Amino acid sequence: MPRNYKAELVAVLGQPVAENPTGVMMEAAFQELGLNWRYLNLEVAPHQLADAMTGVRAFGLRGINLTIPHKVAVIPYLDALSPEARVIGAVNTVRRQGEQLLGENTDGKGFLRGLRSDAGIDPKGKRVAMLGAGGAARAIAAELLLAGVADLLVVNRSLSRGQTMVDDLRQATNGPIRFELWQGAFRVLSEIDILINATSIGLFPDAEAKPDVDLSQSRKDCLVCDVVFNPPVTRLLAEAKDRGMPTLDGLSMLVYQGVIGFELWTGHKAPEAVMKRALSAALLS
Ligand code: NDP
Repeated sequence: MPRNYKAELVAVLGQPVAENPTGVMMEAAFQELGLNWRYLNLEVAPHQLADAMTGVRAFGLRGINLTIPHKVAVIPYLDALSPEARVIGAVNTVRRQGEQLLGENTDGKGFLRGLRSDAGIDPKGKRVAMLGAGGAARAIAAELLLAGVADLLVVNRSLSRGQTMVDDLRQATNGPIRFELWQGAFRVLSEIDILINATSIGLFPDAEAKPDVDLSQSRKDCLVCDVVFNPPVTRLLAEAKDRGMPTLDGLSMLVYQGVIGFELWTGHKAPEAVMKRALSAALLS
């Protein structure tokens, strides 16, 4: 039998990337399915992105992930964007189709898959409050609007970023999205079905930080979600659990955005349980 020593390559481009854990779950999935694929963490400074993208084409990488600071900057180097990536205005996953590099955004899709699979909630018709208006918030908001939420209230510290995001997404989707400036404690009223922290508040090493929200008037069945995955149980989620409210952690979104990327790249059904176990073990070790 002829031997083939050439692995298919995928990679994450970012700065910093040393602690990016996506490769751990991808490598576990490649092994599980017996695929000769490798996932590389490639440190790329902003001024080297053009050269790096030439390299992606020259080396024939099958796909890439983009992380800070390249999610928007990569767009001019791609041949086409998915409709969702165009609405969001950022790309976290690129797949190669022939000679073409196609930009996708799986962050929001990953969140929604976790919402449906792990929390058992269909966002259609739900009233959602979301803290934050950065990249993660934009991706989640776009997918929630496309999924038919009844109301999406975006709460952000900076007025200009929050208002711009809401205006952009309302124009792109015609969906029910509105903005409120975050001043003092944000009260999560009983009409809210889902609360999402899409800010970086509580992210390691500032794990003691907690978004300023008041859950005292929330319904007991309001789902409290956090995009922060390190630590998996943030102070916000701990408070919600103490109050008996259901929660969804950032690991869920992280696993499912990877699952979707894996399936786009390889065409194989992803071994979700293996990926989740590998990622949890890496983050908890
Ligand atoms: P951005 O820098 O684009 O946005 C950060 C957001 O957090 C902004 O809305 C910012 O508000 C807000 N914020 C930060 N600090 C504070 C504070 N002290 N008080 C109030 N608001 C604050 O980051 P990203 O959107 O890319 O990432 C956000 C988080 O999501 C990170 O923790 C990241 O790790 C996580 N993430 C998780 C993923 C997953 O799969 N689980 C995937 C992608 C990201 P302002 O506009 O006022 O500055």
